[in-house]
Amino acid sequence: MSFKKRGAIKRLVGAKEISIFTLILDHYLNVFEEHNLVGLEGEEEEKTDRQKEIIDFAANSANEMIQSLGCEPLITKSKNVHLLKRGASKEDYVEGQYEGGAFDQYTMACYIMKTHSEVKLAVRVFHELIHFKSYHAVRFIGIVGQEARVAEYRLGFGAENRKKEKAKYFLNIDEAIVTELAKRFFRKFLSKCPLLEAEAERINRKIEEEKMLGTSSIRINNVFFPIDDVYYFQMVGENPDIELFGYGKERKVLNRIIDIIFQENRNRFSDREEVFNIFAKVLFSGNMMPVARLVERTFGKGAFRALGEGLDIT
Ligand SMILES: [Zn+2]
Repeated sequence: MSFKKRGAIKRLVGAKEISIFTLILDHYLNVFEEHNLVGLEGEEEEKTDRQKEIIDFAANSANEMIQSLGCEPLITKSKNVHLLKRGASKEDYVEGQYEGGAFDQYTMACYIMKTHSEVKLAVRVFHELIHFKSYHAVRFIGIVGQEARVAEYRLGFGAENRKKEKAKYFLNIDEAIVTELAKRFFRKFLSKCPLLEAEAERINRKIEEEKMLGTSSIRINNVFFPIDDVYYFQMVGENPDIELFGYGKERKVLNRIIDIIFQENRNRFSDREEVFNIFAKVLFSGNMMPVARLVERTFGKGAFRALGEGLDIT
């Protein structure tokens, strides 16, 4: 059976019988291709043509990035992206992800909190689409009643941790990479979209103004965030409305690891972006070995496993 025809899922483990194998892959293919989601009635906003165009722009930018890493991008459709209204039953869950959105493997859907800003929309959608376009693997657990139960086995860098049900290996590193890619999307791609150009320019001007005034960090709820992490900035009366790239702690660790690897392997890499790209490629190829080798060589035996458990190996 070919996985090529199976949409997003690249691997299914644990299913020995062909009938189970087909049943599970058919489910994923159906939710990926047909995507007739039930249970969202009245909770999502119908997308305008402009919003669809922005979603397509984010998807095409993601595809371009994935291709430049030497991987084949998963082609996704805007109908798998859902714009949730305020008060939707998934609101707390989605807001709790600190990224204005969430991706769910089982329903093959990106859930995005509705926003008045098209730049926020583009960045949120881009982040979730990177999860969507990542390497997918699922594990068959067993039959419960009439249903085949499955678990998320791999999503991007993230891997199932069978010892702790809710915890996943490499989740920190996965989110750090996704967010770093979203930062690159904001910096290098956003202004290329005619629909976003004006708003992006206004935001960047505001950020530059702040930097000229000597602002290097922004305080929100008594926590300081670097100004370079801001991607939305608008004064509402006296108060600033600000949105930032999340996973600051996780990205700090990732960036430190990349800096150290680059410093210690200067003969192998011409710039640090080359090292970052090796990490980023794992999300789409599913192959962790190149990163595992680099990390173990630089930080010692066992370092890759420690990284997977969320420890700071620097
Ligand atoms: Zn994420």
